[in-house]
Amino acid sequence: MNTTSPHAAYGVLLSSNTVNARGENNTFQLQPLPYTQDALAPYISERTIQFHYGKHLAGYIENTNKQKAGTEFENMTIEEIMLHADGGLFNNAAQVYNHYFQFEALQPHREKEDTPCEKTAEAIRKEFGSFDEFKARFTQAAVTLFGSGYAWLTVNPQENKLEIIQTHNAENPLKEGKIPLLNLDVWEHAYYLDVQNLRAKYVENFWKIVNWKAVEQRYKCL
Ligand code: MN
Repeated sequence: MNTTSPHAAYGVLLSSNTVNARGENNTFQLQPLPYTQDALAPYISERTIQFHYGKHLAGYIENTNKQKAGTEFENMTIEEIMLHADGGLFNNAAQVYNHYFQFEALQPHREKEDTPCEKTAEAIRKEFGSFDEFKARFTQAAVTLFGSGYAWLTVNPQENKLEIIQTHNAENPLKEGKIPLLNLDVWEHAYYLDVQNLRAKYVENFWKIVNWKAVEQRYKCL
């Protein structure tokens, strides 16, 4: 693993170039989803996408733009802001990263392609014994996280192994030197319109729409 590559330093947001494109007044713009708003249904509804992607993510982008304007962060990428800013600007930029990171690694449900491939599959077997055991442990992390935050599959570059971790609020594993491969937003806004208080059902639905090719692409970038 090449830990000196920019990818290792910033994590592997596949859509980084697009996400960091600037519009008017040097601002970040909400980028189109890589699928239609109803493409993840019934696992994630069109209505949830409209609010989660169209309103929550858009709001984080808008706040990042406002808070970076006229500061030392003005010309930084989302990744750089996330790694260097504190307080409200960190929270908003990290939420932009965290949301794009999740949405780019989802896809419409496919019966035949919903398991990890190659390098990811091998590393999961090595660390967790089986895909089912990995799913059980990731699910446990997502379901038991108290309050708002994320469950993540990460690479620990020091030990060159996979780890499942929980983060609270907007926190991102890169802040603790771990490289994210897959995440799941468990803030209530991510699932309340679809399954109300049933977070476990939301996590179960998530497994139907993970884009394992995207996860593999991230892992191979390291
Ligand atoms: Mn969210």
